[in-house]
Amino acid sequence: MKSGALVLAWNTEEAALLEGVLNKARINGVDNAELLGSDSVLAREPGVSPSVEAGILIPGEYIIDPWTTPFAYILQAVDNGAQLIRNCEVLDGGFDGNRWRLHTQMGEICGKTIVNCAGLYGDLLDQKLTGASNFHIRPRKGQFVVYDKSTFSLCHSILLPVPGKRSKGIVVCPTVFGNVLVGPTAEEQESREDSSIDSQTLRQLTIRGSQILPGLDQQPITATYAGLRPATDHTEYQIHSDSNNHYVSVGGIRSTGLSAALGIAEFVCEIIQGKETYQGANECYSWPIANPITEIQERDWQKPDNGGIVCHCELVTRREIDQALSGPVPVASLGGLKRRTRVTMGRCQGFYCTAALSEITAGHFCNDIGWNYSDK
Ligand SMILES: Cc1cc2nc3c(=O)[nH]c(=O)nc-3n(C[C@H](O)[C@H](O)[C@H](O)COP(=O)(O)OP(=O)(O)OC[C@H]3O[C@@H](n4cnc5c(N)ncnc54)[C@H](O)[C@@H]3O)c2cc1C
Repeated sequence: MKSGALVLAWNTEEAALLEGVLNKARINGVDNAELLGSDSVLAREPGVSPSVEAGILIPGEYIIDPWTTPFAYILQAVDNGAQLIRNCEVLDGGFDGNRWRLHTQMGEICGKTIVNCAGLYGDLLDQKLTGASNFHIRPRKGQFVVYDKSTFSLCHSILLPVPGKRSKGIVVCPTVFGNVLVGPTAEEQESREDSSIDSQTLRQLTIRGSQILPGLDQQPITATYAGLRPATDHTEYQIHSDSNNHYVSVGGIRSTGLSAALGIAEFVCEIIQGKETYQGANECYSWPIANPITEIQERDWQKPDNGGIVCHCELVTRREIDQALSGPVPVASLGGLKRRTRVTMGRCQGFYCTAALSEITAGHFCNDIGWNYSDK
């Protein structure tokens, strides 16, 4: 969804930094960003607090679907011959000068080249496989508040603060699913597992959200959640290769990993195949399309013979659920089904549809572990 973004300054000190942000954008090839006075900001986004001092408009910013995008990559990879193995932890392994042998929870897997993209565990896996790592993961938690769909008309752009050194700060933005989202925080922690939320931080987020977009005040909240970024001591991504050992480590993708995934993949392909040899996306590949689940495309409930609506909050049809449970990459858990279809993600958080869902999905998730891949 092409939303555009506004970097907002809330006082004269922040406004003084905008010129530098604009220059950096231009150096990075974004040449259509422009400085706006407060009147122009409010003309574009009347819901923003009138206390805004100034802003930068970045017209080319998009909001994307964070679930269907990586699923589409997997779908295309599998359709073009990749083998997906889920619930399969790499425990250790080694390179014998010719081939890699990985010891995994599901037995031995061999390969010519290894790309370690284990996120929060990237440094630990580096150590297990090569004895050392160029980076140390320092998990950075981000908590979010997702507002009810009644707030969707309050803003149209991504509303950003003037960025700091560690993160781009608290963002207010519409989502492609018809909500408004406030977050994320940037909290350093030791734990690689603890993605708990806390009420005090969420309260601070709602206060900040209402200061930026006063219409959010007292609006119902649909969901709250947190995620952990695989941050490191470095601001840059940590992509290192060892051509002698046919090993690439893609670590520290601390933020913007969703937007940058294809660029990173291309970069890694160039490392493995050689810049001169790598041909880029080949037209011979097939490009299956993942089912759209955003509000900016036609949804399945608007089409005939969809089997009826199962999740009424998010308008998810029986046909969408059946398709997610089958096909080349069937969902393997309720969490997967949620992200594949939006089921239970709405205002009631599954209160009304979970009973029907448990009947529909009966027998599907028990295949979660132990799929038979040996014949592929
Ligand atoms: C709070 C927050 C805000 C974000 N904001 C943005 C944003 O604004 N824009 C954007 O583009 N992106 C954003 N992101 C996404 C962020 O960039 C991602 O966290 C990043 O893409 C990490 O991707 P990754 O592939 O390196 O790791 P992950 O997505 O974590 O993938 C790593 C995978 O490796 C697996 N794994 C780990 N260890 C092993 C092992 N031993 N064996 C087998 N498998 C293993 C894990 O199970 C996991 O599936 C945000 C994320 C968070 C948490």
